[in-house]
Amino acid sequence: MKRIAVARLFQETSSFSSKKTTIEDFKQFGLHFGADIFSQVSDLRDEFCGFMDAARQATDLELVPIMWAVGWTGGALTQDTFEFLKEKLVNGIASTPSLDGVLLAFHGSMAAERTDDTEGAILSAIRRVIGDKIPLVATFDHHANMTRRIVDNLDALVAYLTCPHRDTLETGLRGAHMMQRLLRREIAPTMAFQKIPMVTPADKYETEKEPLKRWFEAARKLEERPEVLAVAQFPVQPWLDVEEFGWSVVVVTDNNKALAEQLAADLAQQAWDMRHEFLVNNPLPEEAIRMAVQQEGPIVLADGSDATNGGAPGDSTILLEEMLKQKVDVTTYMTMVDPEAVEKALAAGIGKEVTVNLGGKQDTYGKPVRLTARVIRTSDGKFRIVGGSHHATSVNMGRTVLLQAGRIHLVVSERLNPGHDPLVYRHIGLEPKDAHIVVVKCVVGHMHAYAPIMKKTIWIDSPGATPSNLSRLNYQRVPRPLFPLDSDMAWKAR
Ligand SMILES: [Zn+2]
Repeated sequence: MKRIAVARLFQETSSFSSKKTTIEDFKQFGLHFGADIFSQVSDLRDEFCGFMDAARQATDLELVPIMWAVGWTGGALTQDTFEFLKEKLVNGIASTPSLDGVLLAFHGSMAAERTDDTEGAILSAIRRVIGDKIPLVATFDHHANMTRRIVDNLDALVAYLTCPHRDTLETGLRGAHMMQRLLRREIAPTMAFQKIPMVTPADKYETEKEPLKRWFEAARKLEERPEVLAVAQFPVQPWLDVEEFGWSVVVVTDNNKALAEQLAADLAQQAWDMRHEFLVNNPLPEEAIRMAVQQEGPIVLADGSDATNGGAPGDSTILLEEMLKQKVDVTTYMTMVDPEAVEKALAAGIGKEVTVNLGGKQDTYGKPVRLTARVIRTSDGKFRIVGGSHHATSVNMGRTVLLQAGRIHLVVSERLNPGHDPLVYRHIGLEPKDAHIVVVKCVVGHMHAYAPIMKKTIWIDSPGATPSNLSRLNYQRVPRPLFPLDSDMAWKAR
């Protein structure tokens, strides 16, 4: 029997959000330790459930659960929060006797106030504890910012193959199988890592659409070769302001370093050659709303600049303000994070009118909007997201109210919501199909759930913590030159 320590640590940072992520945010979306984890997460179909499935299918694997910590997305972790989670994970592994391996599920683009490469820091601390002989394998989101330190401390890694991320469970299974084969000495993984000096908007990150489809299919083709164990591609999420930033690719081969290096360089060069295809030019809010009103619904207005699955706070009022200005008179759904407004609405009661200064309190790009609305319904803001369309977790938006102002229906919650998921509306009795405009606080994560029920998505160029128009961001720490910030730079894969 082989004993494997397992954990999931997931948070996706936007360096451009003013709201720091604390331990409370992890408690909101799930923070569990030890044996408790199995019963808390077993229905979620996340990477951790993939580890559990692999152990069930095998006769020689025993999982030792250490930590399951999901902070969803937000600003950088406070340093205390990061140090706490790191210590819990590293000490949990250190205090587990007779381990044969360590298997982890990361997001890969989590940053803390004073630590850019949090996953790298954690992995090197684990490596110090377990030494060089015990295998260490991890799984990552394809939006991860891969670093040399992460790669050097791992024996092997795998990443999601889809966006929106439908293969969370399968990624866990692939990571676990890599570990099993390693322990049985069937393989001797070696990795090549190639950073690509580019950052591109998340708009073109769907793996079933061009241009990313072509790049991902090229990698799947390489994986058909028996000596290629895995190809992990990382078109990084663009809202990080950290050192060693940018796209990357990792190729894992069975003990063939030269081949891994060659294939990583080929894929990096291919991505670089495609770089202009990833740029977008979206309409400003004024035009986007006009288009949405005039066209046949239901239409998704993707407020990607306030993406609550990309690290933004979810209380941007830029679209709401413009809708009120244009006196939008079609059925419209929108979400807003605002604990003060929730408090006021609950005090007024269902059926009553309430006047609030809504949103614009955490988001620093817009301002609160004064609005009189009727209180329609309330909820406890709790539901579960099962993997298969996006990251799985248990959601607690805090107390939530449905307000209606004219034909605008606002789901207002005390805390962050997963903006890509229709459950944000459905859990409080709104069906997105019934609206003309549904605002999703997301860039492409909503496509899996919304594409079958909506006529189209209109993306918007607005200011915020997670914009598509990267020239809106004031990057300070990223390495330069970096495409498209330095648009005429030259580069060649090694
Ligand atoms: Zn992702």
